[in-house]
Amino acid sequence: MPSLSGPDRIPIVDLRSDTVTQPTDAMWDAMRSSPLGDDVLGDDPTINELEAFAADMLGKDAAVFASSGTQSNLIGLLAHCGRGDEYIVGQHAHTYRMEGGGAAVLGSVQPQPLPNAADGTLDLAEVEANIKPHANPHYAMTRLLALENTWNGRVLSLDYQQRAKAVADRHDLGLHLDGARFFHAVTALGATPAEVAAPYDSVSICLSKGLGCPAGSILIGSNELVAKARRTRKMVGGGLRQAGVIGGAGLYALRNNIERMADDHRRARTLAEGLNAIDGISVDLNAVETNMAFVDVDGDVNELVAHAETQGIKLLVAYGRSLRMVTHLDVTDEDITKVIESVTTWAARRD
Ligand SMILES: *Cc1c(COP(=O)(O)O)cnc(C)c1O
Repeated sequence: MPSLSGPDRIPIVDLRSDTVTQPTDAMWDAMRSSPLGDDVLGDDPTINELEAFAADMLGKDAAVFASSGTQSNLIGLLAHCGRGDEYIVGQHAHTYRMEGGGAAVLGSVQPQPLPNAADGTLDLAEVEANIKPHANPHYAMTRLLALENTWNGRVLSLDYQQRAKAVADRHDLGLHLDGARFFHAVTALGATPAEVAAPYDSVSICLSKGLGCPAGSILIGSNELVAKARRTRKMVGGGLRQAGVIGGAGLYALRNNIERMADDHRRARTLAEGLNAIDGISVDLNAVETNMAFVDVDGDVNELVAHAETQGIKLLVAYGRSLRMVTHLDVTDEDITKVIESVTTWAARRD
């Protein structure tokens, strides 16, 4: 179903993010028919089923539903770290940069940011060099390493994640994954969710990124970790009562919307190759591993955004000159063609 917007319900191609999807009729039906209870009292059957389903899928004990990825990461970080503890995280990781500093503000947890390489990895030797000795009272206590997969559409390999786990184990650190787009990584790696989740003590997944749900995230881990996170979730106002109305969408998505992600990846590649062939437009094709392409524009990128907007195409400026384009359930093959044509027209008119 195409996205519709505005009073005239004009069909649009919205490539700003994979969070802009509209629930399909089948997803609405699943939501409408989901049995509801009070999840704070622990008896919303749909949420209980969703949490059990997600935990089982990732090969862990337990899971807790959260209202957003930011909240799911936060309650995960605070399950690992207390006041005065430290977590090591990418300088360009969402948890560090894009979540209002929540771990520091609400948990008094000190971040130790380290540079992300272009592929999203942190240099594990550098991680190791930044782990503070617990016995020395000068330092905050390093407790956790937090990774992100996918990161700007890039995929961490199974091998890298194993090596990160070895470092964490050697220093008695927890390992958290911000897996907002976990299933994109699973799809690209051709692995099972449990294989990708295996090294981690906690994994946060987003139901509203590429899975097509209107809202919701899930934190998955051990019984003990999830029990702690559930307490923090209540504290930060994340205890939703009849949450199954959203949870029903989540269950539907985990059952039906993962396999189709390969189509989003294929479309992102077609888009990237098509745009890269245009004079004055370039895309690092090696960096297009999942559903995201970063498009460099030689010229006024805001002018291109305005041009595309007149044709019903919504684009997001990422790093000054770049556009971030994200494919998702509401983007068709025809939409990809339309976007390439629109950019082609704009580039030709400039000359
Ligand atoms: C979107 C996103 C989040 C947070 O999700 P919200 O639901 O917007 O709070 C966390 N991590 C990454 C990598 C994301 O892309």
